[in-house]
Amino acid sequence: MRLFVAAELSDELIDALADTSALLRDAVRGRFVAPDLFHVTLAFLGEVPAAQVDEVGMYVRSACEEVEPFATSLGPFGSFGRVSSAILWQGFSSGRDHWDFLAERVRAALRDGGFSIDEKGFLPHVTLMRRADLTHGTLPMPCVARGSVDAVILFASDLSGERPRYEALERIDLL
Ligand code: ATP
Ligand code: MG
Repeated sequence: MRLFVAAELSDELIDALADTSALLRDAVRGRFVAPDLFHVTLAFLGEVPAAQVDEVGMYVRSACEEVEPFATSLGPFGSFGRVSSAILWQGFSSGRDHWDFLAERVRAALRDGGFSIDEKGFLPHVTLMRRADLTHGTLPMPCVARGSVDAVILFASDLSGERPRYEALERIDLL
């Protein structure tokens, strides 16, 4: 199974991200992520044998025991990749220490459990578009909001269909 661990965003954040996405539709060509799929990836595991999924859940649960819910605010846009075919995302302007702590706890627990994760540095962001053409036009001002991160989800990602399907295997409340 293709697994990743993500933070669940509160409704205030999802709503503002959806508003940003709607503004982008008039300004940028590319492939839009549907708002029901918005998330922040904390750790990407990739293929893990089905028999080890419970174990992954156990490590993620133990990491979350050390983390409290936290407030965070949406911030400016950022992008990865080529300007003609970019990943366009919205980042966070506050709560960054909390984001780093959460991601580091989850990553360290998975590493200690012997799982290999993508070791690129963590940069909290929500992908809004893929293959975005940023070569002309100007980006709108992103909608911002303050909200919270109250839970972490272990997802299985199924990329066989027309759009990705994420199945929540386990949802862990931060307490
Ligand atoms: P698609 O690949 O069809 O565009 P997707 O990227 O949403 O869809 P996945 O590739 O399964 O679906 O990725 C799930 C999450 O993990 C996304 O947030 C994605 O950005 C992130 N991710 C995917 N591959 C990596 C990787 N190698 N390193 C870090 N994060 C990754
Ligand atoms: Mg992908």
